[in-house]
Amino acid sequence: MVKVGVIGVGYLGQHHARVLSELSGETGACRLAAVADADRARAEEIAARYGCRAVGDYREMLDQVDAVSIVTPTTTHYDVALRCIRAGKDVLVEKPITATIEEADALIRASEAAGVLVQVGHLERFNPVVGALAPFLDSPTLIEAERLSPFQGRGIDVDITLDLMIHDIDVIHSLVAGSPVRDSKATGSRVLTPTIDMAKAWLEFDNGVHAVLSASRIALEKRRRLTIFQKESYVVMDYQEMEITRFFRDNGRIASGTVKVERKEPLKEELRDFLSCIDTRSTPRVCALKGRTALTIALQIGERIKQEW
Ligand code: NAD
Repeated sequence: MVKVGVIGVGYLGQHHARVLSELSGETGACRLAAVADADRARAEEIAARYGCRAVGDYREMLDQVDAVSIVTPTTTHYDVALRCIRAGKDVLVEKPITATIEEADALIRASEAAGVLVQVGHLERFNPVVGALAPFLDSPTLIEAERLSPFQGRGIDVDITLDLMIHDIDVIHSLVAGSPVRDSKATGSRVLTPTIDMAKAWLEFDNGVHAVLSASRIALEKRRRLTIFQKESYVVMDYQEMEITRFFRDNGRIASGTVKVERKEPLKEELRDFLSCIDTRSTPRVCALKGRTALTIALQIGERIKQEW
């Protein structure tokens, strides 16, 4: 049984604590041992909800846990994760892995030296609709991603490229089987924060597939969609509705068919997988190297936009 601690129990971390507590009841594979938050009152509130220990300084819980979920702001991921890794803990760190490539490389080296697992919280890989996509794919030529949200004032310590676009970068990169980016263009604006609030990027992969990504945290409505254009059909995957619609030619007209995927909570699937990787000592689906690749592409897009400014 793995004793897990959650570090940072703000908007998302409270759900890590809830899901770990649910998994503990359902499978007995883990126990939520403690939660930590720099805001101690917040840690106490969440700990009371799930019946575990609360600490203000996460270092005080390290001798009581085997693994941690790090759900603090992105700019703190490196310091917190490095300390946990050096203490020999398996780590699930929220996306993006870190704020810079140098930090990601240092975490990768430290995890190899310590022999611990690092999984990066690219949640959409565990969305059942992404898992159901493979049978619909037939040599994609262009992949279009839209990830739009109304402004919520969260995640603004980093550009939209690291906040939201990185989810689609990671999913698309897995769909092109890790083919390197050959060329890219990007544009964007800062409207409500000093960083990039909306971005549009065009990527060309070595295998010839193109991708167009739009991400915004200043949109009027929430949308999470991936459209995949292929030689004789196109497929629309809706991350929120968890449904896939295929459009194709039928007697000279466009026909379509929609499949609804059985709903499962992506965070629960992600944490379940983390626990299973700990149990079997296997490499996580989104390991530190994959997190680093997504970060590299996201940072390149951000740089292109800033050069344009
Ligand atoms: P948040 O601001 O709501 O919560 C962060 C919490 O961490 C706060 O309670 C804060 O007090 C605490 N904290 C800050 N520094 C700390 C430290 N050194 N030690 C302990 N606690 C500390 O932020 P959020 O929206 O929950 O985002 C947190 C992380 O989760 C970010 O990296 C973000 O990118 C990621 N995130 C991922 C997804 C996803 O879909 N995978 C969604 C939202 C957020």
